[in-house]
Amino acid sequence: FNVPQAINEKVKSYAPNSEERQLVLEAYKEMYNQEVDIPFYIGGGEIRTGNTIGIYPPHDNKHRIGQYHQAEKQHIELAIQKAAEARVKWAKISWEQRASIFLKAAELLAGPYRYRLNAATMIAQSKNVYQAEIDSACELIDFLRFNVQFMSDIYSNQPLSSAGVWNRMEYRPLEGFVYAITPFNFTAIAGNLPASAALMGNVVIWKPASSQIYSANVIMELFKEAGLPDGVINMVTGSSSMISDVLLNSPNLAGIHFTGSTPVFNSFWKTIGDNINNYKTYPRIVGETGGKDFIWAHPTANAQEVATAISRGAFEYQGQKCSAASRAYIPKSLWNDVRTHILEDINSFKMGSPEDPSNFINAVIDKRAFTKLSGYIEQARKDVDAEIIIGGGYDDSKGYFIEPTVIVTTNPLYETMCTELFGPIITIYVFEDEDWESVLDLVDQTGEYALTGAIFSGDRYVIDAATKKLENAAGNFYINDKPTGAVVGQQPFGGARASGTNDKAGSIWNLLRWVSNRTIKETF
Ligand code: GLU
Repeated sequence: FNVPQAINEKVKSYAPNSEERQLVLEAYKEMYNQEVDIPFYIGGGEIRTGNTIGIYPPHDNKHRIGQYHQAEKQHIELAIQKAAEARVKWAKISWEQRASIFLKAAELLAGPYRYRLNAATMIAQSKNVYQAEIDSACELIDFLRFNVQFMSDIYSNQPLSSAGVWNRMEYRPLEGFVYAITPFNFTAIAGNLPASAALMGNVVIWKPASSQIYSANVIMELFKEAGLPDGVINMVTGSSSMISDVLLNSPNLAGIHFTGSTPVFNSFWKTIGDNINNYKTYPRIVGETGGKDFIWAHPTANAQEVATAISRGAFEYQGQKCSAASRAYIPKSLWNDVRTHILEDINSFKMGSPEDPSNFINAVIDKRAFTKLSGYIEQARKDVDAEIIIGGGYDDSKGYFIEPTVIVTTNPLYETMCTELFGPIITIYVFEDEDWESVLDLVDQTGEYALTGAIFSGDRYVIDAATKKLENAAGNFYINDKPTGAVVGQQPFGGARASGTNDKAGSIWNLLRWVSNRTIKETF
């Protein structure tokens, strides 16, 4: 089992006057001024129904950049059939051949596809170039490369044998198709959820989030160019409820690979439960859902570090990360300094189109998000136990822009301390220094999620106590660092409680969910 040693793709800087900045902005301009007509892909065929929905950048919401076609019920049924046909060969092809395809996709993405996919993510998902680079370039390349290495680690794991008895483990793909449902906020996740299941020999029907279809289309081109056979990954677009209804009711459903909201994931789980007698095999259910991620600081913490973690952790990509810091607990003795640094940071953030890389803040994803987030801001203006100390402005005349907003509350259970908002708003509760231990209980017990969290302290005994006390509060736990930006191969990502099944995307544990093993005992 000799596969290339996976290493993390180097993040490009996009510094002013750099070649990469020029290349990505050229790709951006070229794509921005052409409309694309995006089909859906079934069995390698491109289907256009004529029943279309227009695509508009969130930061320029009257400028049309293309359209996608909506599938009907019969197309989803066709996808099930085409996936089953593709499975006949795909499940038998050697793992080395599958690995070659995805390693080639990684090389194409590190090379000619890098700027196009980054530009697509910048345009359709309103991400600045630095956030696009760590997502649609580096993280997706890392997923593709590391998963190949993890796959070979899995396959080399074999049971004991003895003279006259040869035991072996065959890592078979699941019997049926995997349904991949992906979010708008990470192009890397959108690519990885179908690709990781396919790498393990499965066929996949993939439904990207509607606001990510524009970059999903580039991913389909990438996989095709890398040599992925027709029908292995089928991308369908259209009504989510219709698509899920057909796929979850199919006896061939063998798994779901999901990232999205907790209520949708729960509804899938219920539908699968209701249908449990109709499947050929128990479907694997793998999901990453919401978060309400915390930052907690002890009086021994460094105020500047805490403030940086808040302003980066809460406002990178407008807070639209499952991992984003959205509630913070700061001791009174640090608060003045932390507050000063946060205000300095936020005052230095520029807001606008990602076409100008100096705009750190871009638009939120759509009208629905804009309306919901501005509603929370208005509510905080009225509530006596909340105060907006910076931000609070919003304007959708050109795009869905919301200023980075900091709410300070005297009530640790204030609504925005508990509810996931998925936008550029963080709420801070300032506590008495001597209460630090009881505040840890509050951190643990507030809300229903357990995705990411960060603690800050300069005292080893405090770090130890807080790490133990919060052992179930976050699947990704950070000590003296912001809670976002997990790197494939370094910080396997995922959480428990209402945050998901904690199968750690881009890891051996995740890939193990996509195999159904056969144990063979042969005697001589
Ligand atoms: N893995 C990302 C991070 O660590 C978050 C992924 C998500 O938002 O789903 O920031």
